[in-house]
Amino acid sequence: MKNKTFEVIIIGGSYSGLAAGMSMGRALKQVLIIDSGDPCNKQTPYSHNFLTHDGRKPSEILMIGKQQVQLYDTITVINGMAIGGIKTKNGFEISVASGETYQAGKLIFATGIRDTMADIDGFSACWGISVLHCPYCHGYEVRDEKTGILASLTNDT
Ligand SMILES: Cc1cc2nc3c(=O)[nH]c(=O)nc-3n(C[C@H](O)[C@H](O)[C@H](O)COP(=O)(O)OP(=O)(O)OC[C@H]3O[C@@H](n4cnc5c(N)ncnc54)[C@H](O)[C@@H]3O)c2cc1C
Repeated sequence: MKNKTFEVIIIGGSYSGLAAGMSMGRALKQVLIIDSGDPCNKQTPYSHNFLTHDGRKPSEILMIGKQQVQLYDTITVINGMAIGGIKTKNGFEISVASGETYQAGKLIFATGIRDTMADIDGFSACWGISVLHCPYCHGYEVRDEKTGILASLTNDT
């Protein structure tokens, strides 16, 4: 890539990062989206409760998002893991695992969250499939089935 200086760098190119990128790109900002391709819902077979995408595979929704975003010549998307960043005089310099560095005046983190798996045999293998974190997203599909509820308490009073 010739141009390594952008107006905005977005780290994370899943739903939030792509949405932010589209808004910025449509506002004629030169945007770089860096994505390592590991969204939190990757293991769930189908997404629900998301109007116009109900029942679609998460990977399909992301593919459509990426295709739409890449139609804008203001937006560049690369696959890679951002591994470091420094504040510079004019903004930020972000380094990627490949060894490349990119500069921008503004930085957006859209890196999502990491779910902490319970230390129970099979828990992480079933995450998003039969271990369900959200009744609104996946409850309907298991309606009338036997359900166990795992709740955790914090020490906060
Ligand atoms: C199991 C499960 C099932 C779900 N099912 C549904 C559903 O049916 N319907 C619904 O509406 N919602 C569902 N959700 C919620 C939905 O998946 C999240 O709201 C959504 O993924 C959040 O998007 P995000 O872009 O913030 O984060 P994520 O989708 O997690 O994406 C973060 C992105 O940032 C990238 N990233 C992180 N660090 C770096 C780095 N250093 N450098 C480069 N890239 C990086 C990751 O690779 C990833 O692509 C589900 C969530 C889970 C966990």
